[in-house]
Formats: sequence, structure tokens, C-alpha cells
Amino acid sequence: MTQKILVLPGDGIGPEITAQASRILAACQARGLDVDVEEGLLGGAAYDVHGEPLPAETLEKAKAARAILLGAVGGPKWDKIEDLSKRPEKGLLGVRKQLGLFGNLRPAITYPQLADASSLKPELVAGLDIMIVRELTGGIYFGQPRGIEERDGERVGFNTYVYSESEIERIGRVAFEMAQKRGKKLCSVDKANVLEVTILWREVMERLAPEYPDVELSHMYVDNAAMQLVRAPKQFDVVVTGNMFGDILSDAAAMLTGSIGMLPSASLNESGQGMYEPCHGSAPDIAGQGIANPLATILSVAMMLRYSLDEPALAQRIEDAVGQVLDDGLRTADIASEGMRTVSTAEMGDAVLAAFEAR
Ligand code: NAD
Repeated sequence: MTQKILVLPGDGIGPEITAQASRILAACQARGLDVDVEEGLLGGAAYDVHGEPLPAETLEKAKAARAILLGAVGGPKWDKIEDLSKRPEKGLLGVRKQLGLFGNLRPAITYPQLADASSLKPELVAGLDIMIVRELTGGIYFGQPRGIEERDGERVGFNTYVYSESEIERIGRVAFEMAQKRGKKLCSVDKANVLEVTILWREVMERLAPEYPDVELSHMYVDNAAMQLVRAPKQFDVVVTGNMFGDILSDAAAMLTGSIGMLPSASLNESGQGMYEPCHGSAPDIAGQGIANPLATILSVAMMLRYSLDEPALAQRIEDAVGQVLDDGLRTADIASEGMRTVSTAEMGDAVLAAFEAR
């Protein structure tokens, strides 16, 4: 059956980078990928046309799609919108919420060709390949009650860190299954020495473990995990953690690779429907200049093929093509180094496409 793909270019460099990723998607169609691709408006681009960052039409298309490819949303143009519910990022949060995208996959991969770009010594990061599985729709970012109120003559701010067993179990299963497909090591990150909610988190992970006997489960407190990530990051294979810890650790892990322009991500729901997007934002400082790195978005298409469309061979072909252009010495400005050829967004797209076709 033909599956639907929705491309949401968004704002800033979004349209430039999704244009290159769409060319790769079209090349996959030419090789038999049975998908129907359409575009929609999200974020500031949608606000400008419809006065809403997530118009009903876009939401409808998103619900009907097997997978969504997003560029990025936001930018200074919309930072002054007073009604916070109309800000571009609300569009993105709305899609995540409406589709129930609870499982966030954030790979941190250091291409050997780019190991020098990391802030850590190349030998610590060369060949790094971590997958952080972050719970995305629960935890302290959404827990009730929350607010700022007056108590005993002063203002008090409060949030609630809450996870139910079922929420922990479903993200745990995503992580165990991911570990089964990779290096078979899963590290669950919590703060079970202090927080009851993560004592429960640890108990549920332990309870699931016998169902995945081929996966070695370990536990780490979040403070130690932060330390280990910069001390010896290659010890990790798959890491599973809650929303807030995952937010922080995945950004730190991303920086280990030295190049945010290279990192894709995925957010999945229970039926495997997913939204795929680069980890970076809309980079308004370079928007419209044709110099943005499209590789994170192109690699997001590879993740889409692997996790929502069950096409691992095409995914691998894209990843190999990206490796090939890096081997050939092509670099966009953000990953440029001496002796390498600095290319534009479109030239990088051309090169990946050529390498994809040639394989
Ligand atoms: P950013 O990731 O957009 O940019 C940070 C820096 O990295 C900038 O110097 C930028 O030029 C550079 N950069 C990012 N992606 C690049 C690429 N593909 N190629 C080359 N260089 C790249 O983060 P920011 O500056 O904090 O945020 C800018 C806007 O993006 C804000 O409006 C923010 O809200 C939004 N944002 C959106 C998302 C999303 O849509 N998922 C995520 C983060 C930030």
C-alpha cells in the first residue's frame, strides 16, 4: 500500500535543507519506494499565512501520514508574537502531542572523517555511535500541578515530576528493542538515590529486562552519566532516560560529535508513525545564504526509512552516500577544515545524490 509522507520545511534554513532531503526521497521513489509525498506549512511559515503555527489542514495531513520530515521552526521574526500559543515552536509541540510521539531517538555519531571537529580528543570520539532514547511526552515538563504562586508572603515556583508504570514501560520497550538491533547494551539513566519517580523507573526497567535476555541492562545516576559522557563516551550503546535528563544529555552527546549540522533525530508513537528532523534549529543567522549543512536532514530521511518505512537497505544506502562525500573531502562551512572543499547546500545535495545513485 502506498504510504503518505508529509514534508514540513518550516522556517529559516528549513526550506533549503528539506529541498535537498526531498531530492534523496525522490531518488528512493525512483528505486521503488512506494510513497506519496506532499508538503505542508508549520511554524512561522504557517503563522504568516493562517495566523496559526499548526493549521488544521497541516494537522490533518500529519495524522494521515506514516512519517513526517520536518526542517526546523522559529526565528526572530516571530519572537515578538505576544500570544505564546501562536509562537512557531507551539506548532512543533502540537504535532508531537497530537500524534502521541513519546519516543525520541537521538543518535550521536561521530564520523571518523570529522573526529577533529569534536571538543574532545579525536581518540575519545572517533567511531562514537550512541543512541539516546528520551521519553518525550511526560515527566516534569508536563506534570501537574505546576505554576508560580504566593505562599507565606513570597512567590514559589513548582513543577511535578511524574511517570506512570505504563509510560515507563512503553519507552523501556522502545529502548530494549533498539538495543537488540544494535550493540545489545542498554544503560538506563535515573536519579534513584533521590527521586521516588525514578526509583519506579528503575524497577520497571528491571522488570522488563528478562523479556530481553540478549540485552545487558545497566543503571547510572544522571550526574555520573553526564560525567561519563565526556570522560569515555564510547562505553555507551543505547541510553534510555526521562524527558528532562534526556533533553540535557542528548544535547551534550550531540556536541561530542562536534557538528550539530550532522545529527538527525526521530520521534515515534506506538504504531511506528514518526516525525524525523535534524537536531539543530532554523539557524536564522545563515538562512537564505545557501550555505546550511543539509546532511542532518538527509540522514533524517535515512532514519525515516529505517524506523517508519521498514526499508533498511535504502537507509544504509543514504548513510553510505553521506560517508562517501565526506571521504571525498566535501564540507559545508560549519564542518569545514583545512584542505577540504567548502561547498554550498545545493552542491552537498548534488554530491550525496550522485553518491547514492552510484552505489
Ligand atoms: P540553531 O541550531 O538554529 O543554530 C545554532 C548555530 O548552529 C547557529 O550558528 C547556526 O547557524 C548553526 N547551525 C545550525 N544548523 C546548521 C546547519 N544545518 N548548517 C550550518 N550551521 C547550522 O539554534 P538557535 O540559534 O538556538 O535557534 C534558532 C531558532 O531555531 C530559534 O528560533 C529556535 O527556537 C529554533 N529552534 C528550532 C528547533 C526545531 O525546529 N526543532 C530546534 C532548536 C531551535
